[in-house]
Amino acid sequence: MSGFKPVVALVGRPNVGKSTLFNRLTKSRDALVADLPGLTRDRHYGNARLGRREFIVIDTGGFEPDADSGIYREMAKQTRQAVAEADVVVFVVDARAGVTAQDHDIAAYLRRLGKPTVLVANKAEGMREGAQWAEFYELGLGDVVPVSAAHGQGVRSMVEAALDRLSWPDGADDTELQTEGDAADAVIRLAVAGRPNVGKSTLINAWLGEERLVAFDLPGTTRDAIRVPFEREGRRFELIDTAGLRRKGRVFEAVEKFSVVKTLQAIESAHVVLLLLDATQGVTEQDAHIAGYILDSGRAVVVAVNKWDAVDEYQRELLRRSLEARLGFLKFAPPHFVSARKRQGIQGLWKAIRRAYESAMVKMPTPVLTRLLQEAVAFQAPPKAGMFRPKLRYAHQGGQNPPVIVIHGNSLEHVGAAYRRYLEARFRKAFDLEGTPLRIEFKTQD
Ligand code: GDP
Ligand code: GDP
Repeated sequence: MSGFKPVVALVGRPNVGKSTLFNRLTKSRDALVADLPGLTRDRHYGNARLGRREFIVIDTGGFEPDADSGIYREMAKQTRQAVAEADVVVFVVDARAGVTAQDHDIAAYLRRLGKPTVLVANKAEGMREGAQWAEFYELGLGDVVPVSAAHGQGVRSMVEAALDRLSWPDGADDTELQTEGDAADAVIRLAVAGRPNVGKSTLINAWLGEERLVAFDLPGTTRDAIRVPFEREGRRFELIDTAGLRRKGRVFEAVEKFSVVKTLQAIESAHVVLLLLDATQGVTEQDAHIAGYILDSGRAVVVAVNKWDAVDEYQRELLRRSLEARLGFLKFAPPHFVSARKRQGIQGLWKAIRRAYESAMVKMPTPVLTRLLQEAVAFQAPPKAGMFRPKLRYAHQGGQNPPVIVIHGNSLEHVGAAYRRYLEARFRKAFDLEGTPLRIEFKTQD
């Protein structure tokens, strides 16, 4: 796993409740980014957390291992890929329907693979212990964990059972981000993310090929590590291997298969993600998906539109519009227009990356935050909601990368989205933040 978050895949035939389970596992994070223009909601990969343990969860379509035609075949292919990328599989069956022939096929497939698997019987609300559970042992996958995805029962035990299958030493999580120390001499972890062929390898090789970029030795990193340390203009960086990119000796090469899991893992372990787009293709659905994952992760982001040399003025205008329409939720990260092949504009990206990092690691002292909050309220008070007028009292910083501002007061559940945006804009301006999301949380006292 190389310090990356473990991956849990939800597998099972259609209608057993996989999506319901997925939504329950990923819900808390999605709620933070609801209602942003352009953000695609139909995602099948998400971040989940149980206590201090975080993992990536994959929802797969209905699975018929032997499907040989049409959409089922495609779904089976995607499920197999998800299973291959997973560290542990959660095999979901329907407690009410009992074991079906299809369940037997899937179980046989999973047993053959020998991947750690947890058997879960969903829709088990209101069902007792007793003989009806015995039939699930026929699947040859050991104990069954009863859950109700719809009611949230048993989900914690299910996740514990899944994560316990992993050799995963507690506290040995090297993806944990630095939250203290001086941001000025820390190593900036950078992931370059983007679809195949947008120019990731071309860009990285253009960068790494420069003399000024001196590789340095980082204690504990081996030669073939997935992280490449280097120094630039007195700053230390680490480049994280991303989906579709593999290091081959001194250069990076594109690999054919694009892996959402690898992209997610790289995003999660980076401080800053450079999202690369291809000007000749416009902003595609897949670009918007990747951007959505970056936003979810809370990482700092720099957006670069590559192959700017290959498009005419008309295409440029279309592109600016589609950026607005599809990536509107990343407007804290103004796009850069570059050509990796002609080495145009790629130097300026370093400045943006540093700025995004410093914004993400900003320190916001409580007295300053509280003063800014009071000024914001004095300039424009939050509107009343029915009988309630929210009272915003003081604020403190609740985290870095992304920066989190926690606001304390009364009736804060009545603060509307527009007022939240107003506050965000004021804080952003005051701290000169660019390239990082900023989260505002309300802690109400009544
Ligand atoms: P998927 O096809 O496996 O992703 O299944 P869905 O998540 O779409 O769920 C299929 C149906 O089962 C939906 O109508 C859900 O509302 C229902 N369902 C999901 N979880 C539960 C549960 O825990 N209990 C009950 N009674 N129904 C559930
Ligand atoms: P990756 O899959 O994202 O690593 O993409 P590559 O770096 O392999 O680039 C894919 C193709 O796009 C190659 O044929 C590159 O030569 C080409 N390419 C990369 N950058 C540029 C650019 O700035 N302008 C143009 N016109 N082509 C580029």
